Amino acid sequence: MANLTLDGVTKHFDDDGDTIVAVDDASIDIRDGEFLVLVGPSGCGKSTTLRMVAGLETITSGELRIGDEVVNGVKPADRDIAMVFQSYALYPHMTVRENMRFGLEESTDLSMDEMNERVESAAATMGIDDLLERKPDELSGGQQQRVALGRAIVRDPEVFLMDEPLSNLDAKLRSTMRTELQRLQEDLDVTTVYVTHDQTEAMTMGDRIAILDDGILQQVATPLEAYHKPANRFVAGFVGDPSMNFFEVEREGDRLVGDGLDYDLSAETAERLSDTTDLTLGVRPEDVEIVDEATEPHDFHVTIDVVEPMGNENNLYLELAERDAEPFVGVVGGQRLFHEGDDVVARIPEETIHLFDRQTGEALK
Ligand code: ATP
Repeated sequence: MANLTLDGVTKHFDDDGDTIVAVDDASIDIRDGEFLVLVGPSGCGKSTTLRMVAGLETITSGELRIGDEVVNGVKPADRDIAMVFQSYALYPHMTVRENMRFGLEESTDLSMDEMNERVESAAATMGIDDLLERKPDELSGGQQQRVALGRAIVRDPEVFLMDEPLSNLDAKLRSTMRTELQRLQEDLDVTTVYVTHDQTEAMTMGDRIAILDDGILQQVATPLEAYHKPANRFVAGFVGDPSMNFFEVEREGDRLVGDGLDYDLSAETAERLSDTTDLTLGVRPEDVEIVDEATEPHDFHVTIDVVEPMGNENNLYLELAERDAEPFVGVVGGQRLFHEGDDVVARIPEETIHLFDRQTGEALK
């Protein structure tokens, strides 16, 4: 059993006397066998978090536990963790077999036959059994990535750590490897922490995702929870592609006014907002509808600025007459033909909107 627990984990770096808070008081309980994805923009502290778990970086304060054992002071080699990096970090002078065997030679006292057996079994799992006698420079990027993964699984660790392992692959291979990695992780049932800046990767791979911004954990949730119930405006804007549209509005009784909108709220929603007046209204592009006529208070006259045909869907960039900001985006079915410059009616149904406190960013609906 290997639960992995971060309890108030904090990392400070010193930068010529200035303190950089790379990770601030992060607490996550990662269940045995869980696939947790750490995601966030560049510089948010993902790699530092992973490196603290690996033991490659000291922890300034807080506690890190594997199972029941506090491992803050335990050396990386003694943590029963295998790490896969973005650069595959294969030894160029060694064959694939030697690369995969190397970690075992360092950390176990298995016989050569036993080690070879484990290497061959891991190679079969990764579909690289016919590459065992090659050197890394005789392999494609995808094959090198498989070797790096094979080298991790051969050690049969309690925890897998992966830092952007697919980012050097082309888009098609990346998407194939994503599925393969997920299947592999399910089969091996090993607790895994996976770092990426790519929200699509996070959404499709994680049992849960931990979203970081500026060293601070914003939300730990299943991908669907983060999508439907973002904790705050940052998560709402980070999860989903195209991103959620935001309108800065002021509350006037049961209406939200601003950014070209005059939006009627039901009494039920208005009540929930208590006395907050400065709000951000969010709507996902896929929740915007195009209707024939304006018949209800959530319908708005807009002009189509740009049409992006995606095949099965169209991304429409829509302009409201009294809004200075960039057009907002609606994703609608691909069957209907739209033209740039067309005046249409966009519906923003109340049940789909998100509301945030503009000062704190906290989600209110
Ligand atoms: P990326 O996706 O770009 O790799 P990240 O989310 O992994 O970014 P980190 O590499 O963890 O971010 O960095 C978090 C913060 O800590 C950044 O501000 C970074 O500049 C800083 N940082 C990281 N390592 C060090 C270091 N050794 N010394 C000083 N500051 C550091």
